[in-house]
Amino acid sequence: MLVPVNLKIRWFLIYALFGLALSIILTSIVTQAATKQLQEQVGSSLGDVAFQLADKLERGMFERYRDMRVSAQLMRSVTAGDDRLERFRRLLDSLQSSFPAYAWIGLTDADGMVLVSTQGLLEGADVSQRPWFTEAQEDYFIGDVHGALLLEKELNPDGDQPLRFVDVAVPLLSPEGEFIGVLGAHLNWDWAFELQESMQRSLQLHQSAEILIVSSEDAIILGPASLLEKANPIEISPAMLSGGYGVMSWPDGNDYLMGYAVAQDYRDYRGPQWQVMVRQPLDIAYQPIQELRVQAFWIGGAVIIVFALIGWMTAEKISRPLANINQQLEREVQSRTAELTKSNQRLEQLATTDALTNLGNRRAFFAASSDMCERSKRLGTPLAVVILDLDNFKRVNDTYGHGVGDEVLEALGSLLRATVRQIDIAARTGGEEFSLLLENTDLDGARQLCDRIRERMEQLQFNSDKDVFTVTMSIGATLWQLDESFDTTLERADKALYQAKESGRNRVIVA
Ligand code: GH3
Ligand code: MG
Ligand code: MG
Repeated sequence: MLVPVNLKIRWFLIYALFGLALSIILTSIVTQAATKQLQEQVGSSLGDVAFQLADKLERGMFERYRDMRVSAQLMRSVTAGDDRLERFRRLLDSLQSSFPAYAWIGLTDADGMVLVSTQGLLEGADVSQRPWFTEAQEDYFIGDVHGALLLEKELNPDGDQPLRFVDVAVPLLSPEGEFIGVLGAHLNWDWAFELQESMQRSLQLHQSAEILIVSSEDAIILGPASLLEKANPIEISPAMLSGGYGVMSWPDGNDYLMGYAVAQDYRDYRGPQWQVMVRQPLDIAYQPIQELRVQAFWIGGAVIIVFALIGWMTAEKISRPLANINQQLEREVQSRTAELTKSNQRLEQLATTDALTNLGNRRAFFAASSDMCERSKRLGTPLAVVILDLDNFKRVNDTYGHGVGDEVLEALGSLLRATVRQIDIAARTGGEEFSLLLENTDLDGARQLCDRIRERMEQLQFNSDKDVFTVTMSIGATLWQLDESFDTTLERADKALYQAKESGRNRVIVA
């Protein structure tokens, strides 16, 4: 017998489910850990780039501020001389050539009129309303990004992109400490783009990463074209401020992993406070996780298959001995049942058979009688009931011994068995008394059969050590009457037998 298939399938499924759960749990643990690690790694790398750019911008602005301070200091000591302005112009020109981002440097008088400037541009122009002049009367001024206004035509005659400047200006004081003018410079904002481009190189590892610069007024002053000059749409979370990176949702509907930095001030110098954001779309940043997931999926699939096979084999191992035991038990039960049935049949036979003559006993006779009456009634056929009794049998026993008596009884048993039909019943209902049930037999038929039996008995010769003898019998016969009790019929047969005995024995009386 094979292991039941559904047991195997059950184990197979249990183990497969176990494998599935295990691989789901493992995958989620691994991907969560990997996501965290990746976020830390990429995030801090983006934050690094942001910090470096913010620092470069701040340092750049600080250096320009220092240029202005040093130049103003130099100019302060030159108060006289006809060629004074000429010397100033040369100073400014050489300053401009020292740093390519200088678009224009100029010196105004106390009323805001340009006295001298690089290449003489705007000399004599009134800049008293420009913020860099008004603000720098008090202290140094670092301006945010703005359009070129007066210089646009001069510096960018056929430029398609309008010029963008940031301003650095410092007040010029006389040796007596009196305000006598402002030294100011316009820096081409392209400078920041160049810085950004140089930083972009260190972002090469981070596909689709973008750098944005946000002004102190929260406008995007550098970044993708779609965002440029727009207000910064996102609020930097405190976590991001302190940690330098984080995940943020942008209004474009995408999540970004972002690095963030604001430049630090140098001592008493306060720079433009530009914020630098470096962002990478999250789905791209998490690409390796996606690949990991795919790997985990295949590994998980393999795990499930292995587990399921283990389950299959376990079922095989567990259930084969069980099945064997089961089979053995089944065989045992079968053979025991057979034995029991046999001994029951044997008991039944013992209970209904007479051991000496092998005929049915009294019990078998009465059991058969109710069936025979039933059938006789149903078929409407006569049922003859006969009682036979050996004559003077006591004398046989007394004369020849009980053993010889038994032989006579045995012989009568054989005689009866040989004479009645298969469908009839012959039983030993008493010591030397026998009874017959003859189906579909009327009184005539019964009489004939009884006579035949009586004659055959009479002719049987028995041997004893003393001599040879014969035994006769008396017989009473009657018919079962419809709806009468079987006992009544027996009584009538018994009476007929009594009459037979009374009237001389060795005869048949029919009632
Ligand atoms: P009757 O003609 O009036 O029937 O005379 P009887 O002697 O046959 O009648 P009775 O009833 O007086 O005696 C029956 C005898 O049958 C008594 C008993 O010894 C004998 N007998 C009964 N059963 C057995 C048996 O199993 N074996 C032997 N050998 N004899 C038996
Ligand atoms: Mg008797
Ligand atoms: Mg007798």
